[in-house]
Amino acid sequence: MAEETALILRASRYQDAAKIVTFLSREGGLRTGFARGATARDNRFGASLEPVTLCRIVGRGGGPRSLYRIHHAAILDPYRRIHGDYNRLAWAGFVVRFLLGVLPPDHPEPLLFSLATEALSLFEGEGDPPARTWLAFAREGLALLGYRPAPPVCARCRRIVSGERVLFRPSEGTVLCRICRSGEGKGGVETSSDLLEWLSGTGEGAGPPGGRVAEAADLVDRLIGEHAAGWIPVSSVAFLPEAGR
Ligand SMILES: [Zn+2]
Repeated sequence: MAEETALILRASRYQDAAKIVTFLSREGGLRTGFARGATARDNRFGASLEPVTLCRIVGRGGGPRSLYRIHHAAILDPYRRIHGDYNRLAWAGFVVRFLLGVLPPDHPEPLLFSLATEALSLFEGEGDPPARTWLAFAREGLALLGYRPAPPVCARCRRIVSGERVLFRPSEGTVLCRICRSGEGKGGVETSSDLLEWLSGTGEGAGPPGGRVAEAADLVDRLIGEHAAGWIPVSSVAFLPEAGR
């Protein structure tokens, strides 16, 4: 049997005394496993397999042919403050949905695992505004998966765009400058070249330029939406007070 460090993403009851659990394993990537005897109310095994919990899992199996079976689980971090605060939990939920939406099964992504647990630790702590933590996570997560857009260069006139409104097409990763975009219709996202520079990793600093968190969140939503089916935009969740900050 193998021991793995796992972030629990989703858990549902299966029949009377079992759970089907989807988790991100540092060692094995996105896995779905079967945990017998994990549903009793005061059951530590079951408690360690709740979504947004970091734990050590002992199990076997997995891969395309056999169901992974979880035999033992011990909590490493219960993320108590996230679970006790609806706003924190909602932000953590975006990280969980991102991972569920973009990752193929059984493909190890140790850097993305670290990025996700770092983001959850920040949601758990004080200080960093959660919207910024989310943007930093999403930007780096997209980059790790190979979805980072190139620094903005106009796809038509080949000019390096700077300090202007542009049309970005997330499906192709292309940009049209303010001149070439005229007459191009609506297919794409209108955004600023400096936000694309930030997303491409060439801008300065970790946060979006000018503190334009809401605009950056919109852009990130559109890019994630290209890769994660059924993505519900962060910016549409109006109950998050920090989202527009
Ligand atoms: Zn152009």
